[in-house]
Amino acid sequence: MRRCLIYLDEQALQDSVDLLEVARQIHASDDDVTTGVTFGADIRLAAGAFDSIIQVSHPQLKTYDPLAVTEVLVELQEKNAFDTILVPATPFGRMLAPRLAMRLKTGLVADVTAIRHEGGQLLAIRPAYSGRIMAAILFHGTGPVMMSIRPGVFHWDRTAEKNTQTETFAPTRVRDGNLRRLAVKAKEQTYDIRESDVLVSGGGGMIGHFQELERLAQSLGGQVSASRKIVDQGLASRSIQVGQSGKTVSPKLYLALGIDGAVQHVEGLKQVQHIISVNLNKNAPICSLSDIVVEGDAVTFIDKLVAKINQEASD
Ligand SMILES: Cc1cc2nc3c(=O)[nH]c(=O)nc-3n(C[C@H](O)[C@H](O)[C@H](O)COP(=O)(O)OP(=O)(O)OC[C@H]3O[C@@H](n4cnc5c(N)ncnc54)[C@H](O)[C@@H]3O)c2cc1C
Repeated sequence: MRRCLIYLDEQALQDSVDLLEVARQIHASDDDVTTGVTFGADIRLAAGAFDSIIQVSHPQLKTYDPLAVTEVLVELQEKNAFDTILVPATPFGRMLAPRLAMRLKTGLVADVTAIRHEGGQLLAIRPAYSGRIMAAILFHGTGPVMMSIRPGVFHWDRTAEKNTQTETFAPTRVRDGNLRRLAVKAKEQTYDIRESDVLVSGGGGMIGHFQELERLAQSLGGQVSASRKIVDQGLASRSIQVGQSGKTVSPKLYLALGIDGAVQHVEGLKQVQHIISVNLNKNAPICSLSDIVVEGDAVTFIDKLVAKINQEASD
């Protein structure tokens, strides 16, 4: 029997629960035991999915401080000796996972997108060199096996309901670092790019100018979407990402500005009616899928098209 701990990020609970699929693929056995650990998430979504859920509670614990959370997880690992620890590669998970791996003196494979078994050995697959190659990482040593998992890649199908045991854990070591939370702002309401008829989408060629897309989207009565390059840079929310690990969209018109057209992006465009791409490189892969290709700078294109639309509106 192998035991797996999954960190439940309260900002991305579904992505965290989906890591059960990763645990299933790693252990490839029915008698593995999965434990979720939460520092405040509403566990209703996870109940019935895990064998057990540990709810961490301590009045002085700063659950927003990755170092404080790391300290608690170290204590839990000392108590439970999990074989595998999985963390969603969310913004918080990306801060947490390397710190925890360092404290546990184990390796970390970050941003894993697939699991393989070869010759009895476990391989974690992750993109390298900006996604140009996929690297297969082999585990050595005594573990625990630690990975952070790219959100949106694995999906867990709830088959049977489990009788989830819940327990409260009060850590004995609570770290009080220098981090102070001064304010909490509610997330901005966002639209659903899957419902839009016109999408103005920006990619790597729009870094530094991404906000310009909004002007064109408004002029065309559409909405803004993005490639993952933009989302990974923190310039747009993941909720507007198009592609394999984002959303599949079905607008009548998709304007691809400074987007190269990697297979993972194009995966999200299968139901698009018309594509216009604007790119400095007319041989970029997106161009071969486009109804119209504009060879040139995307920001100049926006300026000219918005000016033209405004002029026609005033005539
Ligand atoms: C498992 C996995 C899942 C992934 N999922 C997704 C996903 O869901 N969605 C996604 O988008 N990607 C995804 N990716 C990433 C994908 O492989 C590419 O890295 C990403 O799509 C590249 O984004 P881009 O084309 O915007 O940027 P780049 O690759 O940087 O391309 C920029 C393009 O802009 C052009 N350009 C540059 N400057 C200008 C300018 N001034 N004007 C006009 N054109 C310009 C360039 O010629 C180039 O064609 C995934 C990768 C992996 C490994």
